[in-house]
Order: sequence, then structure tokens, then C-alpha cells
Amino acid sequence: MAQAPTIDNAALDELARGFRGKLLRPGDDGYDAARTVFNAMIDRHPALIVQPADTAAVAAAVKFAAERDLLVSVKGGGHSAPGHAVSDGGMMIDLSLLNEIKVDPAARTAIAGGGTKWGELDAATQAHGLAVTGGRVPSTGIAGLTLGSGSGWLERKLGFTVDNMLGAEVVLASGDVVRASENENPDLFWGLRGGGGNYGIVTKFEYRLHKIGPLVFGGMLIFPRPRAAEVIRAYRDFMEGAPDDVGGCAALVCAPPEEFVPAPMHGMPVLGVIVCYTGKPEDGPAAFKPILDLQPVMNMTQPMPYVEVQKLIEGMNQPGFQNYWKADMYPALPDEAIEALANATVEPISPLTAILVMPLGGAIHRVSDDATAMGWRGARWHIHVLGMWADHSENEKQIAWVRDVANAIQPWAQKGAYLNFLMDEGEQRVKESFGAHYKRMEELKNKYDPTNFFRLNQNIKPTV
Ligand SMILES: Cc1cc2nc3c(=O)[nH]c(=O)nc-3n(C[C@H](O)[C@H](O)[C@H](O)COP(=O)(O)OP(=O)(O)OC[C@H]3O[C@@H](n4cnc5c(N)ncnc54)[C@H](O)[C@@H]3O)c2cc1C
Repeated sequence: MAQAPTIDNAALDELARGFRGKLLRPGDDGYDAARTVFNAMIDRHPALIVQPADTAAVAAAVKFAAERDLLVSVKGGGHSAPGHAVSDGGMMIDLSLLNEIKVDPAARTAIAGGGTKWGELDAATQAHGLAVTGGRVPSTGIAGLTLGSGSGWLERKLGFTVDNMLGAEVVLASGDVVRASENENPDLFWGLRGGGGNYGIVTKFEYRLHKIGPLVFGGMLIFPRPRAAEVIRAYRDFMEGAPDDVGGCAALVCAPPEEFVPAPMHGMPVLGVIVCYTGKPEDGPAAFKPILDLQPVMNMTQPMPYVEVQKLIEGMNQPGFQNYWKADMYPALPDEAIEALANATVEPISPLTAILVMPLGGAIHRVSDDATAMGWRGARWHIHVLGMWADHSENEKQIAWVRDVANAIQPWAQKGAYLNFLMDEGEQRVKESFGAHYKRMEELKNKYDPTNFFRLNQNIKPTV
């Protein structure tokens, strides 16, 4: 149920004066679309949604909320699984109008507004044969993903998204607008690279771009599910020595009802290997020979535009479903862990649930551990149990299944998690995810947001 609005009309008129953008109250056209987030489990009703059209409007909204002690949520792409973009009774700052993108092909840089989606940024950069590590589903916001560190198919080649972040324009809790980069407010710049939405609202991101594609070798290989343990073991061994150009993951999924999948396979549990090879496309089959030699039942790999690789799992990740996730980092994947994973997932209870086994390494490991805020850079593997189902009456049993799978492989996990895949898992888990960096994160929070104005996020509590 929505809480009673706490903002009177006179106050709203005051905000509206000179405000570039839109103000939406319950019942207004566009209010329901704006409050809706990816995870259908989240159904919250803010008292006010502001959609600023420029940085000054974001700053005005922040000051307005601070003066009235309103609970503020910030919406980039709305993909946070715990639904941090929206609250009941608070004020949502929805950045969807801030999606301007400027690519400088000569300098190989891009500046993108805080409400941009990955599909938009990929399209704009690929028009010049350039890219930065980006989200694996086009509708994900660049903001939340980048601020959490940013994992994508290109990460072994280019590092995480934050490893390619050059600067940001930030609206602080005070309403002041500052720049953050290696030379301007470098402490803030460090905290933004992995610290989530804790330090301010990023209205512009600047990225370093790299030559990628436009054609790469990509697609998916499909193996029968009973071969899952054997193929994941082979994939692990293959990835241990693979060059940085080899990206992708192993995925325990049910074959989607897509045209490219033969009808009898629709809904069947399978083991997929997702392929993104950024060397010469014609060298792709040779690069993946050890996996192709395992004789998949379907081989859908081919030279394809990088933007199409970025859509490979889009069909399986549509908004409007219930989502519950667990994810952990692994220093290694011993045979016993793989066996445990395969056994725990023999009978998936939702055809939409996916378990992604993602290799790390490559460029990620060449960046120093202290360069950015995350606390687990040295991990070798990342396993994401992405529970998704249609019917909310099944929530309890589906959540239990996701937890059972995560628990089955927990003995091999290391402490801490990837911020972007965390649900609301408590303070301790957030602390562990920053590891040795947490104290520094806390000091930054004390400096930049001492009242915890930005608290609907994976929160770092100020200690002042
Ligand atoms: C279908 C799907 C696919 C995904 N794929 C990937 C993937 O490939 N790689 C990966 O790393 N993650 C992935 N994620 C996770 C994703 O990165 C996080 O959910 C991230 O928070 C999404 O960012 P958003 O802007 O869309 O989210 P939102 O829900 O809008 O925001 C998430 C958090 O970021 C804060 N925030 C948003 N915008 C700003 C801003 N401009 N300034 C300051 N704070 C802000 C919000 O307050 C909130 O706390 C995926 C999620 C989904 C649902």
C-alpha cells in the first residue's frame, strides 16, 4: 500500500518553478510506468516522481528533498533486483530523461547521461567500432551497473566497466555539483568505482572506449543437461589458459522458446556455453576448439555484430517476472563444487531461472586490487543463481530453490559478493563485499553523505 504523500501542493509548486523536467504524482500519466522496476516482486508507490531533464534539475530535486527530509530513491535503469530505485511514500529521482550520449571517436571516449541504457550506449559506440565493457542485457541502466563495478562479456579483455571510467559529474547530498576523476576529487572518484549509489547522483559518466568488432565471433553452444558437470569441468580447464579475447560463460538454463531453438527442445534443461570472442571472427572456431570438440547438440556460434552478442540473453531476461538472486565469488572451481552445482540443478523448478558460471581473470586481474572500491578482484569465478518465475504465488518455493542451489556450492565460495547481484542481504554482507576497502568507503560516506541521504542502495552507513 502507498503511504500518504508527505509533500503538499504549495511545496510542489515551488519545486516546479523553473524546473526542467517532469513531476509526477500518483494518478498522473506516466506515474505507473516510471515507478515500475524490472523485478515484478517490487510494487512500490512513491509520493512523488521527479524526472529531471538536466543536472541543475537533479540538484534542485536533491535540495528540495533534503529540506523536507524526504526518503529519496534514484532510478537509472530500474534493474536493481532488490528494487532500490523505488520506495513507498518517498521521492523517486528518475533519470530517464538524462540519456544524451556523445562519442568522440578520435579520442576514443564517450560521455553518457546517468539515465542511459546499455543498448543505447552500445549502439552509439559501435557506430564507430568502439565499446566499453557493458551489461549483458540492453535495458540495464549504465548508472547502477557502472557504480557497482560493471561486469560484462568484455571484462576479461577490457576489465570491469569502472576500470574504463574516466570521470563523472556528480550531484552530492548537499545539492552541489562536482566533477570526479583522477585529478578532481580523486577520493570520490575511487568510491564511485564500485561503491554503488552511496556518494551522490551521477548525472554524466565518461568512459574510455576500445576497438571492438563491429563483428565478433559469438553465440551459444548447447549440451544436454546430463553432461553439465563434464562440460563445466572442461570449460573451467579451457578458461584457465584462455586468452583475454575469450569471453562468455557456462549457463545452466532451460532452452528458450525462440525460433533458433528446435521446438522439441523448448523448455528442456540444457547446459549452454555463451561465446563472445573479440579476436578476428574467423579465428573464433579455433579459439573455442576445446569446447567445440565436446560436440554440442546445437552450435549457434558465428560471426555476428557485437551489439547482437549483447542481446544474446535479452529474451531470457524480460521485465515483469519475479526475481530472487544469489551470487558468490570463487577462488577456484574444484570438481566437487561443479558436481554439487550440477546435482543441485538437475530439476529446475522454473524454466526462466538461469545459473551463470562466469570466468574472471584476464584484464580484471591486471588492475591493482586497491585501484577501485570492490573487495574481491582476485576471485577466479563468479556464480550467479538468477531465480526468475512468473507466478507470485510460487515465491516461497522458488526462493527456497535458489537458496538451496546457492547453499550447495557455498562451501567453495569466498567471502563477499558482487554489489550488483546482491539482494537485501544485510550490513555484514555489504561490508564483506568491500573487504579491506570498507573503512575507506565509510570515511568517504562520512565526508560526502554524512546524513545518509542516499540510503536506498547497498548502504554504507556513515559513522559521524
Ligand atoms: C536483466 C538484468 C541483467 C543484468 N546484467 C548485468 C550484467 O551483465 N552485469 C552487471 O554487472 N550487472 C548486471 N545486472 C545487475 C545490474 O548491474 C544492477 O541491477 C544495477 O543496479 C542496475 O542498474 P540500473 O541503473 O538499471 O538500476 P537501478 O535500479 O535504477 O539502480 C540501482 C542502484 O543504483 C543507484 N543509481 C542508479 N542510477 C544512479 C545514478 N545515476 N547515480 C547514483 N546512483 C544511481 C540506485 O539508487 C540504486 O541503488 C543485471 C540486472 C538485470 C535485471
